[in-house]
Amino acid sequence: SADKAHCWHPFTPQERWCAGEHIPLMIERAEGVWLYDSNGNKYLDGNSSIWTNIHGHCRPEIVEAIAKQAATLDHSSYLGLGHPLASELAEKLVAFFPEGTLSRVFFSDNGSTAVEAALKMSLQSRLQTGQEMRRQFLAFDNAYHGDTLGAASLGGVNRFFSRFKSLGFETNFLSSLEELSRIDPTVVTAVVIEPLIQGVNEMRPWPEGMLARLREWATANGVHLILDEVMTGFGRTGTMFACQQEKVVPDFLCVAKGITGGTVPLAATLATEEIYSAFLGGAENAFYYGHSYTANPIGCAAALASLEIFEKDQVFARLPEKISYLAKSLAKLESEFSQIKEIRQCGLVAGIEFEKGLGEKITLKARDHGLITRNILDTIVFMPPLAITTAEIDFAIEAISRSCRFCLA
Ligand code: PMP
Repeated sequence: SADKAHCWHPFTPQERWCAGEHIPLMIERAEGVWLYDSNGNKYLDGNSSIWTNIHGHCRPEIVEAIAKQAATLDHSSYLGLGHPLASELAEKLVAFFPEGTLSRVFFSDNGSTAVEAALKMSLQSRLQTGQEMRRQFLAFDNAYHGDTLGAASLGGVNRFFSRFKSLGFETNFLSSLEELSRIDPTVVTAVVIEPLIQGVNEMRPWPEGMLARLREWATANGVHLILDEVMTGFGRTGTMFACQQEKVVPDFLCVAKGITGGTVPLAATLATEEIYSAFLGGAENAFYYGHSYTANPIGCAAALASLEIFEKDQVFARLPEKISYLAKSLAKLESEFSQIKEIRQCGLVAGIEFEKGLGEKITLKARDHGLITRNILDTIVFMPPLAITTAEIDFAIEAISRSCRFCLA
């Protein structure tokens, strides 16, 4: 097939595809929480595509907004030009935070560029305010912040990033907050973290209260706090943004993935007025960073339509029931299979960790029972659209259970 002959898929050993060990399913159509392949098979999307499709697939309101925008203003440069939807979206994003905190929105294309922009803004703002000493970043072991060079140098997942780390920013890695005691904060520009839960680190939640303590430390030491809410943003953990659960407001907030409801690429880096002010003062202080599709109108239209659905569907009123239903279903699954080492959950994000060697097998076999999801090492990720019903949760858990029975027999 052309896929086998010409396509290069990420995060997958290429030879496996060639050997026919993993035949990529060809997904042709989607609706709600369901994906349909070229053979007409139907699968529940247990991974929300790639943690993107907040309201499920092909939601008519978002589809319409995209179509209307494509016919009205498809694209326009954001260099010295604006358009009404970007202004409206920026206003809506900052409105989630207390007045006088995050007030500036810098648009880009994806999670990696949203983080990359925050890192460069932090560093450049130091150079422009007489704080040249502060050039080091702090990040956490096993963190994932994206694949651009700057973001990769703060990536703690060594199997992905060890080749590139030395080419990026100077970074000190921490395994926990306790390690802050060995850090000289006067040379640190920013600390970067995935709030509440690390995603690519097999869905590992942080201890409760950790984020608030990190905020305190950063404030006390004049260090910027950069929150990477690329995965956790837009309702994933039960609130619009994860940081709201610990009443933390960062200096930078990076969002992408779910911002458009999983339709077209868009990302945003929110920053405080204090940071923005370091970039005033003419060409010398400008932020020379941007992409062709920065603030693209179709992305903004999709994002605005997606935000409206949160209201219309009463997403936050309905989530608690789904989250506790999922917790109960996972506990039952755990009691059935002794090969499950640990279940981790934060909102509608779950990781089911199996004994070594089982994660991929069980994940692939679950396709035969109508569930597509993803394993990270031996942890099966279950992160469905927020629109999932309890009956659909039952369907997904049953698919995992059947796959386990097959693989463990
Ligand atoms: N940060 C986090 C926490 C992520 O989970 C991801 C993507 N998995 C990224 C950044 C990078 O986002 P993107 O793939 O859109 O570049």
